[in-house]
Formats: sequence, C-alpha cells, structure tokens
Amino acid sequence: MTFNDFNFNNNLIEGIESIGFKKPSPIQEQTIPKILSGKDLIACAQTGTGKTAAFVLPILNKIIDTPEQERHLNTLIIAPTRELVVQIDQQIEGLGYFTGVSSIAVYGGGDGMVFSQQKKAIEEGVDIIIATPGRLMALIQMGGVNFSKLQHLVLDEADRMLDMGFYDDIVKIISHLPQKRQTVLFSATMPSKIETLARKILHQPELVTIAISKPAEKIWQQVYYVQEHEKLRLVNHILTTQEHQSTIIFASSKDSVKKLDIELGRKKIICKAFHSDLEQKDREAILQEFKARTLPILIGTDILSRGIDVDGIGLVINYNAPHDAEDYVHRIGRTARAEKTGVAITFISERDKRKLADIERMIGKTIEKMPLPNGFSPVDFEKPLENVYDKKNSAKKPFRRRKP
Ligand code: ADP
Ligand code: MG
Repeated sequence: MTFNDFNFNNNLIEGIESIGFKKPSPIQEQTIPKILSGKDLIACAQTGTGKTAAFVLPILNKIIDTPEQERHLNTLIIAPTRELVVQIDQQIEGLGYFTGVSSIAVYGGGDGMVFSQQKKAIEEGVDIIIATPGRLMALIQMGGVNFSKLQHLVLDEADRMLDMGFYDDIVKIISHLPQKRQTVLFSATMPSKIETLARKILHQPELVTIAISKPAEKIWQQVYYVQEHEKLRLVNHILTTQEHQSTIIFASSKDSVKKLDIELGRKKIICKAFHSDLEQKDREAILQEFKARTLPILIGTDILSRGIDVDGIGLVINYNAPHDAEDYVHRIGRTARAEKTGVAITFISERDKRKLADIERMIGKTIEKMPLPNGFSPVDFEKPLENVYDKKNSAKKPFRRRKP
C-alpha cells in the first residue's frame, strides 16, 4: 500500500514526500480510510507506530477540501503535554507545508507574547488548534473562542491525559463543541477509564487495535542484575564502552534525575537533566539540543517517556525499573522508532525482582540477562531486604518478599 491509495490531494502528497515517509505504517493504513469516511474512531497502538500522521493526514486532506468561508476552527487536537502539542504542530507544518492549512500550538507556560499570539490565531479562526487541556480551558473561559464550525476533535494520548487527571477538563471542553462532529481518540493503552470516556463522547466508534503494549521487535531488550550501590558505576561503564547515537536515561523521581545528572557530570559524561522544575524555555532548549544531537545524553523521569518523538535514539537505560509494566513499554518505545533499531537496558536490583516479572508478563517474553562486567558483584535475591517496620509493632508488612 502507498499513500497514493488514499486519493490524497497532490499538495498533501508533496508534503508526505518532502518529509520522507515512503509508505503508511499499519496503524495509518487502518485508520486513515476510517477517518476520511467521517466515522468516529478509537485507535490503540503502541508508541512509535505513527499515530500522529494517522490523524493529521486525513484531517489535512479534509480541510483542503473545505471551502474557505466554512473554515473557522475546523479541528481541535487535545494532547497531554506542551512538548507533545509542539511536536504535533511541527508534524502538521511538515506534512501540510504545501496545503495552506494553518495551525497553532496552544499551551501554558509561555510569555505574554505567546499568549496573545495564541489568542489572536484562535479569534481569526485558524484551521487547527493543538492544545493542552488546561490552557485551552482558560482561553475558552475568557470568551472569544467560536467553535460553531468545528468538524473534528482528536484526543491524542488519551490514556496519559486521564492519568494526569484531565478527565473533567476534557468533558468541560467538549461541552463547548458542536454535538455534530467527528471525534477520534488515540491511545497507547486501553484501560477501562478510556472506555468510560469513549462512551460519553464518541458516537458509534469504530475500533482499531494494533499489538497493544508490545514493544517493537527491533528493540534489543537487556537486563542487568545489579546492586543498588553499583548502578552508578555500571551506567558509567556502559556509557563509556558502548557507542550509541543518542541516549535517554530514566530515573524514578525528579530528585534522582538531578542527582544522577550531577554524578555523571563528575565523571565527565556530557548529559543534561530534564524535569518539571525547569522553566519551559529551558526544557525546550534541552530538547532542541538533544534533537540536534549536540547533547548526547538526556536524563529524565517518566514525563519523557510518553510521546516525545526524537528520531534515532540508540539507547534507553532504565536506571530505576519503572513503577509499572506499561511505563516500561512507553520508556523503551523511545528507541527504535519507525524504521530504526535500538537497545533498551534495564537495571534490576534486589528490590526490583517483582517489577521485572510484571514487565516480562506484560510483554509476553523473558528479557535477555546480560553478564555483569568484571569487578561488579552479583545481586543476591535471596538476601532479605532491610525491613523498616518493627515486626512486633506493625500489622502491615509492605515489603514482604515473595519466594522467587
Ligand atoms: P506515536 O504517536 O504512535 O508514538 P509518532 O506519530 O510520534 O508515533 O511517530 C513515530 C515516528 O515515526 C516519528 O518520527 C514519525 O515521523 C515517524 N513516522 C510516522 N509515520 C511514518 C511513515 N509512514 N513512514 C516513516 N516514518 C514514519
Ligand atoms: Mg503519539
């Protein structure tokens, strides 16, 4: 199948060619015809499968065919974070470069100038708004947003938005939209919360599901059993002995991200920490450096793991095992995107054995265990963990271990 099979407008085809997409990905093959036909849709596929273009392309094509006088805020795309919003906007600009379709990214945290730019574009009836729920809600409440000509609503990363507590905002925003519209919902996973939302806001949706929560085949997944106190030395060893184009290291909390950044810095490793304490402009600058490959290593929490699309990440290191197995899939999905290959390394220490079992159950296979380099001590999973509770005084024993 090729993009020509969708009977897209020539100007759109030109955009697709200019950004170098050769053929549609599986999720694109299945969802594009459905969106073109005007149906409501729920689409579920793992990260890195090309969901953005799956909704951007058919919507661009439909906007091209809409008469100018009917075009006022034609499409609203809601996504959880500003980074994602910017990324979707960039993809629209790339794919829609020759189509004359206009778009604006709407998110909080910018300066007054950004805000008035967003407001002006919306008042003038830009074709596509890509927005985070919070900022959009604020703009709607200020008045002057006329959605009466809106045709399409897209919820991207719907699972993530619900995780972040945006359910009420989303429902409220939708109450300002025309009832008659096409709604499409994209998600990497399909928890029951999504079904509840879908029932409320979609009309007889079609469902497209592709390999939920299975990481791409091209990722070489590896586990190192390593003692907690030797992790820093091991990450240093890996970073200095293996060659990878770009690397993301995931740690469990903002504080551990900052700490790791400082400690690796001491070892003369060029890296930067990415976390929510940074100013918006610094976050953007860091991502730009990383994308431009002037910054080889980025350290972050799970906020980096959803949706951020940087091409050609060669290595993902889970310095701390993710809290749940879904996060694992999202994290390692940062590598091997589209046609590329990558390596995903997870450190498993004494306390993470259960997490590893959960992950392996979810992905449906065991992950290759790598031998520790010389000079590292093996992990003893039999050794009981320190129990912070006094046995006699405490009824709950949250750290009880299972027999392996
Ligand atoms: P998802 O939203 O499913 O996580 P994205 O839409 O961010 O995935 O796409 C992942 C990567 O694949 C991006 O770099 C994107 O440019 C690229 N991509 C998407 N569709 C295609 C295609 N048809 N051919 C080649 N690359 C593609
Ligand atoms: Mg996406």
